[in-house]
Formats: sequence, structure tokens, C-alpha cells
Amino acid sequence: MALHVIVGAGPVGVELASSLRDLMDHTLRRIYPTIDFAHEVTIHLLDGADRVLPQMDGRLSRIAMKRLAQQRINVLLKTLVSEIGPDRVRTKDGVELRGRTIVWSGGVKVNPLVTTLDLEKARDGRILVDECFRASGRDDVLVVGDAAFFAVRDQPLPQLAQVAVLEAPAAARNLAALVRGRPVLRPQTVASAIRIGNPASWNTAIAARDESGGTIEAVGDDVGDLASEVQKLATWANGEQITRVNVEELAVGRAETPIFAVTDAWGRRDVAATLRATESLLDRSHRPRSGELIRLVASLVGHVGRVRKVSRLADEGIRSSEIASRLKIHPFVAEKAAKQAGNFSPEELAQATVRLAELDAGAKGGSRLPPELQLERTLVEITRRPERAG
Ligand SMILES: Cc1cc2nc3c(=O)[nH]c(=O)nc-3n(C[C@H](O)[C@H](O)[C@H](O)COP(=O)(O)OP(=O)(O)OC[C@H]3O[C@@H](n4cnc5c(N)ncnc54)[C@H](O)[C@@H]3O)c2cc1C
Repeated sequence: MALHVIVGAGPVGVELASSLRDLMDHTLRRIYPTIDFAHEVTIHLLDGADRVLPQMDGRLSRIAMKRLAQQRINVLLKTLVSEIGPDRVRTKDGVELRGRTIVWSGGVKVNPLVTTLDLEKARDGRILVDECFRASGRDDVLVVGDAAFFAVRDQPLPQLAQVAVLEAPAAARNLAALVRGRPVLRPQTVASAIRIGNPASWNTAIAARDESGGTIEAVGDDVGDLASEVQKLATWANGEQITRVNVEELAVGRAETPIFAVTDAWGRRDVAATLRATESLLDRSHRPRSGELIRLVASLVGHVGRVRKVSRLADEGIRSSEIASRLKIHPFVAEKAAKQAGNFSPEELAQATVRLAELDAGAKGGSRLPPELQLERTLVEITRRPERAG
């Protein structure tokens, strides 16, 4: 009887135990037909925690447990090892397991340098960090990767390469927000985005069953984009409900998203909010400001043009659902455009289109005025209400 003892049921231990059994069942069995691997080889997998993969989501632990059982791996939980000899493992409860192959997969120790640092640590020696990956709340010490203990509801992210790699954009995103005085992503959001494993998801607006309006606002009404966002939602939500806060949080940083804050403010004829939203959009973009400005103007041209079309059709007495289908836009967008159109006269909308076209040409180099000044002037002109005569 051969016995393998693997100490530590984290990712390495679970993977090793499972691979060992695969090796026996699929490869060695054919090479050594006289050995009954199913009965003559036992694999023990030990861990002090009450589940395998304790660093991961409970559902993953359950899936792994099921698979380990199918592979006839003997999982011993809440079992602390106190002693390891050349051919035996003794547990704290005094149980002795004899085996020729003993594998330690109980985790790696933190880097010795980390232990010497005067920073608050978790029990496993990692440095406790907040949602901006700051250690001990200090602005000048950030920790990511294996050395960082980033916890969500006391559950730390595991020490894995993909976590380490995705923590970097998360840390950068939150630090930039912090410096700019903007809200940082909550730890749950950081952890969820890391779990999705796609850095693009940081800048992604998330759809929600009960937040379809907010999603369209965030993503736009392009069906392809929406489908892609809904797909990401499915991964992110994992069966749980998504709120508007989630949509807004996850939409942060996506340059296309705040355009809705600009067009909404314009549609309400709120000059101050239009300028604020524009400033915020330019600030938040990771792309060069000049390019972002040109993109913003192009979006505004498109938006005002759409509102004009909706306005004309609405004036003909056509209902918004029919307008939506004729213009191939989402009914929500048609409804919103109709509402905005109600705040402008047809002449004002025509004038806004002309002013934006001039701005577009100016921003692309046809004006001697600084583009941002020109943008501001145009926004004020096309947004403010006309002064009443008398
Ligand atoms: C055996 C094993 C298997 C693994 N398998 C997987 C796996 O399959 N999938 C997975 O996702 N993760 C796996 N991991 C975990 C993964 O390797 C780590 O989570 C990841 O490398 C952490 O990245 P990091 O940048 O924080 O640290 P590291 O990758 O360890 O990088 C730290 C760097 O800092 C350098 N350094 C350390 N001290 C100093 C110093 N004093 N001065 C200057 N430089 C220093 C080191 O040389 C090193 O290059 C495995 C780990 C091990 C040990």
C-alpha cells in the first residue's frame, strides 16, 4: 500500500492531489496493469481549515470537494500537522499517517523583508491594506501581490499570480481617484473585478435586470455593447442582484459613460452641471485631453442631432416607441430625447447643431482660440435659456 500525504489544501495542494490521481488513473494504470491503483494507493489531503481552498469562495470549495471525492482523495479538514518525519506525518490530535511521499503545500512564508517592516500585518504575516492598497492607512506605502492582505468581509484575496497582476490596475485606479478627490471603488467591487479577471471590467458599466435604464445610460444604446455588458454582468453578479450604485461604481473611468452626465445636464438646460460634467469627463479620461475633447464634441453632435430627429417626429405626433423603432434606438433613449427636446425650440436645436459643428471644426485645428475655452463658450451658448424680452 502506497500512501501520499499532502499537507495544505490550498490551490497547490488541491491541484497536486487531483493531478496525482489523474496520473494514476489515466497513465500509470496502463503502464503498470498489475497494480490496483484504486485500492493500493491512498492520497491524504490535510488542512487545518474547515474547507479546501479556504482562500477562495465557498462555492469553489464545494466544487473542489466534490471532484476530490470522485477521485477518491481522502480529505482531512480541521487537521493541524504538528510534526513531519521522513515517512510519517503526525497531527496535533496525535494521529499518525505513514507515507513515503509527503508534500508540503501549506503555503509560502512571506518575504523576510516584509516581516521586518513596521506595518500592521494579518495573522499570516501579510501586510494589511485598504481598498487603495495603502498599508496602515499611509499614503506613501502601497502593497500589492503576495505581500498584501486585501480583505473583503474578512476574506483575503488569495496569493495568486492573476490576483497580483490585477491588483496593480486596481491600486492605480483607486489612487488616481483618491488624488482627484473622487470616490474610490469599494473593496467588494475591487474584489469582484479581480475575480472576473479582466482589467477592462474596471472601466465597464454593468447592466442589471432592474437597472436597464441606468445601464443604457452608462453603456449607450448600441445593441452589441449592451450585449457585451450584460454578458459581463452575468459573470460579475453571479446570481446576485445589481444595484444602481454598482452600475455607477463600475462605470467610473469609462470615458464614454460620463457623456451622459453632460448630455443630461444639457437636456435640462443646466449650464453649471453641463460644465462640471464636461470637466469631469476630461479629467477622468486616461486618454490625451485634446483627443478626448474631440470625441466629446463628436458625441454631442450626435446627441443633439438625435434629439432634433426625435423632436421632429414627435411634432408629427408619432409615439416614442414608433420613433425608437424608426431611428433604431432604444425606447428609453427615444423617450429621454423627446423629454429633452421639449426644453428647446426647433430653432434652438438647429442653432446648437451649427455651433457644435463650428466647435468640431475649431477643435480639429480650425480655430486660434484654445479648444477648451471654445468648448466652454459653446456649451454655455447651447445650454442656457434665452433671456426673456422685457
Ligand atoms: C510553487 C508555486 C506555484 C504557484 N502556482 C501558481 C499558479 O499556478 N497560478 C497562480 O496564479 N499563482 C501561482 N503561484 C503564486 C504566484 O506565483 C504568486 O502569487 C505571484 O507570483 C505573486 O506575485 P508578486 O509580484 O506579488 O510576487 P513575486 O512574483 O514573488 O515577485 C516578487 C519579486 O520581488 C523580488 N524581491 C523579493 N525581495 C526583494 C528585495 N528585498 N529586493 C528586491 N527584490 C526583491 C523577487 O525576486 C521577485 O522577483 C504559485 C506560487 C508558487 C510558489
